[in-house]
Amino acid sequence: MIHSQLISRGITDKFVLDAMDKVPRHLFVPLDLQEEAYDDRALPIGENQTISQPYMVALMTELLSLNNNCTVLEIGTGSGYQAAILAHIAFKVYTIERIPTLLQEAEKRFIDLRYNNIFTKLGDGSKGWGEGLLFDRIIITAATPSVPQVIINQLADPGIIVAPVGERYSQSLVIITKDTKKYGNTLNTQYQTPCIFVPLIGKYGWSD
Ligand code: SAH
Repeated sequence: MIHSQLISRGITDKFVLDAMDKVPRHLFVPLDLQEEAYDDRALPIGENQTISQPYMVALMTELLSLNNNCTVLEIGTGSGYQAAILAHIAFKVYTIERIPTLLQEAEKRFIDLRYNNIFTKLGDGSKGWGEGLLFDRIIITAATPSVPQVIINQLADPGIIVAPVGERYSQSLVIITKDTKKYGNTLNTQYQTPCIFVPLIGKYGWSD
């Protein structure tokens, strides 16, 4: 997977490649799909949701430009795989999920695999985490019509958001950088690549 799917497509960050090498992806998919866990595609995880393709996880992680001082917010815990990758590189990972059964399964994996820098919450992540916290990095792993202002407000300065933004069934990966020293009060927005994610359902996403 590391060579044929990631390095060959241009992933170079050694922290990302190391995390992708270490996290046991087969433990984040349903039992009957374990043999397909390292295939080059997204897989169903129940509740009509998916664990993203390995390349997409690696690409989004690389685009976050993480270091071990970063506090990261992930919106859309799903299986917990992306959070585990982030937890290998960052200082702390906060992850929020709206479907209780998926969150419970992910929490069990974090305990079994001894991730003690991942903090979880059940709720509507389209409103962000709340509690007045600020995050150095924010990754949205569900498709959103736009990045909600409440989430931008929870981004530190400097800070980076990576999110699939667009229509319900097709999006672009967007990188938003807040850095008032460099860009003043305007956010720097870059469009990366087309992608397809399951929808963000909530107050500032789509309705159910
Ligand atoms: N990052 C996940 C994959 C995410 S799939 C992984 O590594 O497996 C997208 C997830 O976002 C789904 O689990 C879905 O239930 C969740 N989701 C959708 N809308 C949400 C919202 N408003 N708040 C929190 N989670 C949401």
